[in-house]
Parts: sequence; C-alpha cells; structure tokens
Amino acid sequence: MSTVTKQLRKAARVILIGAPGVGKGTQSERLLARFPQLASISSGDLLRENVRRRTPLGLEAEAAIQSGELVPDSMILNLISNDMKSKGWLLPKSESPVQSSASLSSSSPAGIPSPAHSVDASASFILDGFPRTAAQATSLDELVPVNFVVHLITPPSVILARIASRWVHEPSGRVYNTDFHPPKVQGKDDVTGEALTQREDDSLETWTQRLKKFEETSQALLEHYDRRRCLFRVEGDSSDEISPKLFAEFERRFC
Ligand code: ATP
Ligand code: MG
Repeated sequence: MSTVTKQLRKAARVILIGAPGVGKGTQSERLLARFPQLASISSGDLLRENVRRRTPLGLEAEAAIQSGELVPDSMILNLISNDMKSKGWLLPKSESPVQSSASLSSSSPAGIPSPAHSVDASASFILDGFPRTAAQATSLDELVPVNFVVHLITPPSVILARIASRWVHEPSGRVYNTDFHPPKVQGKDDVTGEALTQREDDSLETWTQRLKKFEETSQALLEHYDRRRCLFRVEGDSSDEISPKLFAEFERRFC
C-alpha cells in the first residue's frame, strides 16, 4: 500500500459493515494510515481485550463470542460509548453546549435530535463492528450521527476460502493473511515482532454461526442507514481490490 497521507476538510464519522472476515479491520488500518486524523474503535478488539484481561465484562461476553452469537446491546453500547468519551469524541452531558444548529444540523437528518459531539475534523473516527443491529444504530444516532456508512461486500464463499490463512496480533488487532497480506517475518507482528495467533472464533463452525447472525441482522441495519442516505456499497474479492475504491469515495466526501 502507498504511504501517501491526506488531510480531512471536515469530520468523518464512519462505520464499517460487512460479513465476518470481510476485512473490516484491514480497511480500518489502511484508512488510518492514509488519513492520520482518523482514529478507530473495533468492538471485536475491545471485547477480546476484556476477555484477555478477564474483566467482569469480558467474562460475561466470552461464551457469546466463542459461539458466534452477539453480546447484549446494552453491554456493547456501554463499552463503545465509554471509549468514545475517553477519546473526546463525545462531550460529557454537563459540558454539552446549548446546541448550535449551525454546526450540527448539516450532519443530522431532519427529525433526529442532534446530540452533543465534537464536529472538529480531529474528532473523525471509524467504528468497526458497531453498530451491528438496527437497535444499536438507533442508540448510536442518539450519541453521535455518523455520516459515512461503508458496506463491504465479498461473497461468503471467497471469505471462507481465505479465513484459514488469517492471523492476528491480538494486543493491537492488526490482521494479516498469509496468502494476500503476509507479515514481514512469518508468524510475527510487523510492528512489535510478537507472535501472531489465529482467532478461536475463526473455526469453520463458529464462522458459519457468525455469518448466520450477520445475515439475520444486517438487512435492517443497512436499511436504517439507507434511509439516512449515507450508505456506500463497495465490492471486491480481496482487501486490495476494495481499498482503492473506498479511498476514492472517502476523498471525494471528506478531503
Ligand atoms: P471480522 O472482524 O473478521 O470482520 P466479525 O465482525 O465477525 O469479523 P468482530 O467484529 O471481531 O468479528 O466480533 C467478534 C465477536 O464479538 C462477534 O461475533 C460478537 O460475538 C461480538 N461483537 C462484536 N461487536 C458486536 C456488536 N456490535 N454487538 C454484539 N456483539 C458484538
Ligand atoms: Mg474485525
């Protein structure tokens, strides 16, 4: 991938939607590298970190993750909103300014109350893996309105064929694929040199269950954003095919 970086002209509040293993993590890493003002939150990485640290939330979430089910909406909502607050993307309620419609209305569809959020380009973000249900999307609308929803599309048969080659650096969430995007040194993370592992929930059985969940929940989620006119569909059999199309659209909207 090229090392060109680009500045944002306005705040990008992006979410990535796609089947398990489609490459949401890979596309977020690449967007972060190209647009340094972006930061990202991956719901799956946050959950796995809690499981690894054996926090009460992690212990509660573990069984659902291992069986390919979703964790409860309230749990994921707490986790994400706390992380967004700590990153300064949401203003604590007590500090909410009297809402200035001039700065907020451009990104808030009519009829939806504008929540208190920073509109500065530096408050740009990518959410990977959240929201995953229409109910979660409604909750997010109340926190901060997203303005670019990317639907990543790859045929499930293609994802299945490559999932066995997926390796991850667990602490950072960096993703490799030994066929398409191998680490510089086999079995080691490019940045830290630490060992790569495979995700337990990438087993055929669990991946199939995750796909089933995605198929059950994604239609209502996509319709939610289609109604708000911020949905962008991008297709490809590999991350390398998808990235240039995604970059082009991203630049058209935000640079
Ligand atoms: P990939 O990361 O390969 O694109 P994925 O989207 O299935 O695939 P993660 O986003 O890492 O994987 O999620 C892993 C698991 O964490 C899910 O199967 C689910 O149990 C839980 N999870 C993650 N995000 C949410 C969410 N928004 N709501 C409910 N459960 C979630
Ligand atoms: Mg992921």
